[in-house]
Amino acid sequence: MKPTRKANLLKFTGFVTGLTILFSSTPASAEDLNTRLQQQQSQANSLQNEMKTIQSEISTLNSQIAEKQSEIDEMKNKIEETTNKIEKLKSEIEALQVEIEEAKKVIAEKEEEIARLEAQQERRLEILRERAATLQKQDRTNIFIDVILNSTSIVDLMQRVTSLGTLFQSDTDIMQELQETQVIIEAEKEIVEEKARELAEQQATLQQRQDDLQKEQDALQQQERELQQQQDSLQASQSQKEASLKRLEDNLSAVRNDIATTNAQLEEQAAAAARLLAEQRAAREAAERASAEKQAMVVEESTPTESTNSASSTNNNNSSLLGNNSSNNNSGNSGSTGQFNGRFVSPVNGGRITSPFGPRRHPVTGVQSFHRGIDIVSSTPNAPIHAIAAGTVVFSGWASGYGNYIVIQHDATTFSGYGHNRTNQVRVGDRVSAGQQIAIMGTTGVSTGVHLHLNIMKNTTNFWSGHVNPAPLLGM
Ligand SMILES: [Zn+2]
Repeated sequence: MKPTRKANLLKFTGFVTGLTILFSSTPASAEDLNTRLQQQQSQANSLQNEMKTIQSEISTLNSQIAEKQSEIDEMKNKIEETTNKIEKLKSEIEALQVEIEEAKKVIAEKEEEIARLEAQQERRLEILRERAATLQKQDRTNIFIDVILNSTSIVDLMQRVTSLGTLFQSDTDIMQELQETQVIIEAEKEIVEEKARELAEQQATLQQRQDDLQKEQDALQQQERELQQQQDSLQASQSQKEASLKRLEDNLSAVRNDIATTNAQLEEQAAAAARLLAEQRAAREAAERASAEKQAMVVEESTPTESTNSASSTNNNNSSLLGNNSSNNNSGNSGSTGQFNGRFVSPVNGGRITSPFGPRRHPVTGVQSFHRGIDIVSSTPNAPIHAIAAGTVVFSGWASGYGNYIVIQHDATTFSGYGHNRTNQVRVGDRVSAGQQIAIMGTTGVSTGVHLHLNIMKNTTNFWSGHVNPAPLLGM
């Protein structure tokens, strides 16, 4: 059996060399690609958050713009109202103007009439004077004639002639009548003048109101202009926001393309690894068949593992038996409090480290990379995997590279991860105690043989980062 195993090991080593050449064009390891994927996804998330913020800012701006629009509409209504009032006042003022013009015409007519009456009185007085002069030539002693000749006006004359008897009675009667008519017309003229004054006052009041309304309208138009400016600036910042949103959308679609590319690379790697694994198994089976035929005996199945290769190519000293596992049987629960006490127990009974934490050449991809955990094998087939401390399952499912993967959170910043499982036996949200069985060891994901890839993440809230060397924490 031993020589067969050795022969297989040699074959496998040759295989790995072939793998290295085959994968030399591959730019990154599966773990690197996973890290890249996490970064790209968090980039996409932060872009989406930024977009949400901007979208809510845009909707705020939209409602502010609508508010401004209703203020502007209100202002326009007020301006229209004021314009109507001003138009009405203007026509009232025009109507008053017409009335004032008519009154002025009437006043002018009255003045003309008064002038005519005055002229008639003047003529009468003249006739009387002439007649008195003629009489004086005939009778120089008549003092009444002196009175007439010396009177300065009709009123003066009338006062003087009251006692003159009937001599000039008919003349004074006519002059009296003329005088009375003049008084009436002057009274009429005064009434029309009063009316014209009132109309002018009314017109002035209306003019004042029109001026006030015009001022009001000017103020409203100023306000409207200001509102319009505010709305313009809101619309400007809205278009800016929309431009940023467009840029973010472009960035997001670029990041999504990157994510698709990374996923495709991961799938390609997984497929290549699976193909190699199949070829490797076929080769091994062929070798075993040949060996069996040759030796005519049953050959014990020996599974070459990632570790066998690693150990032979990098570090032989790291293969060691795990510490005392007597307290960690399959039931695993005895003596466990269910609380993380800062200490870890062994994940595999009688397990052995085959690939240490740190830089190494990846056993499948052949690319130089950093091994972010330790690989542990068991001599038992279908070996149970135990939780290394109490905690809560925060991930249980398929992870590129890790295959069936379980992550347990022990406290706010401490996690342990278990990869390549054949079967996961816990689900997200399950509480597990230290030593509790959580999985069956397998070789799922990017793996060359049955083993446990164990991660411990500390001082992190994201279990895809913060990897530390589990070996010293497990006393290995
Ligand atoms: Zn590993």
